[in-house]
Amino acid sequence: MNPAQQPAAPTGPQPGDHPAWPENFAQHKAGVDCPMCTNDFTADDIGWGLLVNKGRFTNAYLWRSGQVRGYLVVIFTVRHVAEPTEMSPKEAAGFWREAVAAGRAVERLFRPVKVNYQLLGNAVPHAHFHLTPRYDAENDPAPGGPLPFAVLDHGRQDEDQLRTDAAALRGLLGYPAREAGSGACEVRR
Ligand SMILES: [Zn+2]
Repeated sequence: MNPAQQPAAPTGPQPGDHPAWPENFAQHKAGVDCPMCTNDFTADDIGWGLLVNKGRFTNAYLWRSGQVRGYLVVIFTVRHVAEPTEMSPKEAAGFWREAVAAGRAVERLFRPVKVNYQLLGNAVPHAHFHLTPRYDAENDPAPGGPLPFAVLDHGRQDEDQLRTDAAALRGLLGYPAREAGSGACEVRR
C-alpha cells in the first residue's frame, strides 16, 4: 500500500474530540479486564496483527490497522503493566531492548527516513510501543512532525502485503528461533 494514495491525513484531534478517558480506563490500568491481556500471546495471529517476534519480555506484531506500511506494535507480555515505572529495571531494559531489535528490522526492511517509538497507552493502558516507520515527504502523511494517530487506526493494511512483510520481518528477527523448534533433530542441524 502506498501511503501517498491514501486520503489526506486528518488534521489531528480537535478540542472536544475526546472529552473523557475511555470507559473503565482506571480498571484497565489496574489490570482488571485489560483488553490487551485478553489476547492469546501464544498465537501467531491475534487478529489485530501477525506475530513477527516473541521475546522474553515482549511480543512484536505487524499490525493490521492503519495506513502505514511496517507499523509494528511491541507488547510487554511478562504480566499486566501499565507504565514502565512498574517494571523492574531488568524488565524495563528488556522491554526497550526488544523494541529496538524490532525497530532495527523495520529499518532494514522498509528503509524509512525515521522510526518513531510511541509509548502511549491512553486508550489501552497496557505497556506497548507503537513503532512507526516514517517515509519520504511524498509517502508520509506528516513529514517533520508527529504522525496523526488516525492514520494508524483507520483503514486496514493490504493482507497479502502484510503477510509478505511479516515473513520478511520474522526472517530478520530470527523468529521462530531454531532452538524453539519442535524436535531435537531440528536443533542439531
Ligand atoms: Zn494488560
